[in-house]
Amino acid sequence: MPFSSLKLCEPILHALEVSGFTKPTPIQEKVIPLVLEGHDVMARAQTGSGKSASFVLPVLQMWSTKITEGKGKIKALILTPTRELTLQVSAAFESFGAFLPRKPRVVSVIGGESIGDQLYAIQQGCDILVATSGRFLDVLSKKQANLSHLEFFILDEADKMLDLGFAEELDLILREIPAQRQNLLFSATYPPKMAAIAARITQNPVEVSLDGEAPTVQAITQRVIEVNRENRGPLLRHLLNTEQWGQLLVFMANKRASDNIAMKFRKYGFSADSFHGDLSQEDRNYTLDQFKAKKLRILFATDIAARGLDIEGIDCVINFDLPRSSADYIHRIGRTARAGKSGMAISFIAHEDQDHFRLIEKRSQIKLPREQIGGFELTGTPPPKTKGPEPVKGKGKSKKDKAREQAAKDATAKR
Ligand code: AMP
Repeated sequence: MPFSSLKLCEPILHALEVSGFTKPTPIQEKVIPLVLEGHDVMARAQTGSGKSASFVLPVLQMWSTKITEGKGKIKALILTPTRELTLQVSAAFESFGAFLPRKPRVVSVIGGESIGDQLYAIQQGCDILVATSGRFLDVLSKKQANLSHLEFFILDEADKMLDLGFAEELDLILREIPAQRQNLLFSATYPPKMAAIAARITQNPVEVSLDGEAPTVQAITQRVIEVNRENRGPLLRHLLNTEQWGQLLVFMANKRASDNIAMKFRKYGFSADSFHGDLSQEDRNYTLDQFKAKKLRILFATDIAARGLDIEGIDCVINFDLPRSSADYIHRIGRTARAGKSGMAISFIAHEDQDHFRLIEKRSQIKLPREQIGGFELTGTPPPKTKGPEPVKGKGKSKKDKAREQAAKDATAKR
C-alpha cells in the first residue's frame, strides 16, 4: 500500500518522498486513517515501528486545513519521556511539514536548556509544542503558555513516563487543557497503571496493536551469555575482536560504571564514550552526533539512552548490566534493528542475575538459550538463596583495597 492511499495531502506526500519513506509501516497504515477520522487512539507500539510518523503526519494534515490568521496558537501538545525523543518528534514535524502552505511553528521544550528562551519561543507563536513531561510542568507553572486552543493531546512512549512519576502530575496538565480534544496514546506496554491513565485521558479510544504481525523485536537476535561479573569486560573485548560488529550500544547500571568502562576501553584502543543524564545537553548532543557520524564505535550508556533514541545502524546492544524491568529490556534491545534492519542483543548474566533474568523472560514471554564462551565460562556456584543480612556500612573493602584488586584484575586481563 502506498502512502497516497492514506488520504494524505500532496505537500505531505512530497515530504515523505523527500525523506525516502516509500510505504507506510503497519502501525502507520492502521493509525493514520483513524486519526484523520477524528478518533482517539490507544496504540500498543514499540519504538522502531514508525509510531512517531503515525501521529505526526495526520496531525500536520488536520492542523494545516484549519490554520487561522495571526500568531500560531498551540494546537498540538506532545509529551515524551526524554529530551532526545522530544527533539526527534519536533524534527519529524518540521521535515514532514516543510512543504505545507504554511510551515508549522514547532517548539521543543526540554530540560537542560534555558526555559526563558523556550517560553519566548512559545510566545512568539507556536503551533505544535513537543515537550518532556518534567519541563512541561515547569512551563505550566509559569503560566505563560496558552493551551486553551489545544486540539491534540499526544503521549509518546507513555509507559516510560510512568517511571518518571507522570501519573501524579497528570491532573495539573488536564486542568489546563480543553476537555474537548483528540487524544493519541502510544505505549510499548499497557501495565494496569498505564491502562488507568489511558482511561483518564482518552474517550472511546480505538485500540490498535500489531499482535499477530511480526513485532520489531523479532528482527533482533537475542542472546544470553553466562559469564562471571569480573569477566564481562574481557569477554566484551574478546567479542569485539571476534564478531563482525560495527557499532555497539552497551547498557550499564549507572553513570559511574559507564564513565569508568568507557575510559578503560579507550585505554585498550577502542573508540568509546559514555552517555548518561549527568552530561550537559551540549555534551549529550555532541556524543550522540559523534556516534551517529560513526566516529565512535562503542557507546556505554545508562537507561536514559534506552528511551526513544533513534540511531540507525547499531549492530548490537549489550546488556552489560541487566535492565531493571522487562519493559526496559524491550526498550533497550529496540535500539538495534531499526527501520527494518536486523540486529543483535546480548545479555551478560552471572549466577546472581539468573533469577532476575528469568523474570524478565517470563514477563516478555520469551525463553532464550544460555551460552558460554570458551575462555570465559561461568565458574563458581550460585550464591545461597536465603537473604543474608544487609552489608554493614564501613565493613566493606576500602577504596584502596578495591583499587588494588582492580589493578590486579586489569593486569590479568592484559596478559
Ligand atoms: P519510530 O518508531 O517512530 O521511532 O521510527 C523508527 C524509525 O523508522 C525512524 O528512523 C523513522 O524515521 C523510520 N521510519 C518510520 N516510518 C517509516 C517508513 N514508512 N518508511 C521508512 N522508514 C520509516
